[in-house]
Amino acid sequence: MRLVFLGPSGSGKSTQAASLAARWRIPSLSTGDLLRDAMAKGRLETIAAHSDLGKQAQAQMEAGELVPDQLMVGLMRESFGAPATQHGWILDGFPRNLAQSQALDTLLQIMGQPYGQVVYFDVPENKLVDRMLKRGRQNDSEDLIRQRLQVYNEQTVPLIDFYRRRQCLVEIDGSLSPQEITDAISSVIKPLAIV
Ligand code: ADP
Repeated sequence: MRLVFLGPSGSGKSTQAASLAARWRIPSLSTGDLLRDAMAKGRLETIAAHSDLGKQAQAQMEAGELVPDQLMVGLMRESFGAPATQHGWILDGFPRNLAQSQALDTLLQIMGQPYGQVVYFDVPENKLVDRMLKRGRQNDSEDLIRQRLQVYNEQTVPLIDFYRRRQCLVEIDGSLSPQEITDAISSVIKPLAIV
């Protein structure tokens, strides 16, 4: 079971990634968590193999920008090296632009592990902003939320068509309740996973 979860901040993909990963006993690789963990351990510079890129990353995260691709790809390469990922994974937050999706193809080719499907969480924009404001996470000002959405619209939205053309995109109505979304994903993904 190798899945990519695609969707904007506030679409609920992280919640679903965590609960489905637990159910299927595979790791959920959440880029936000991986980045915050690497930052707390002072490892960003090493992973990026470039000290300036590592230093920029924290400011970029705080500003709602994407961190450099080189850092992200290094982080993913490292994560895929963990034995726990041998039997499957859910990618939550990667790829987030076309360059990253190409880097993912290359990484997976090297590992001989193709991804199965890309699950796209579709949620209307006004609902997203509403949810995020209610979530009230520290530093989640409306400006920052709108900035993240703009970055998503510019850089990540092109991936929807990219994967749709590859015929591996599964679209989920992300405005449903968490339980309904879990059920919707399980019913689409499960039969394929058994094959
Ligand atoms: P959210 O889902 O609210 O956007 P995340 O925890 O997924 O939050 O990500 C937090 C921040 O980490 C992003 O705003 C971005 O700066 C950085 N980030 C996460 N994934 C990537 C990625 N694939 N490429 C570049 N930056 C990323």
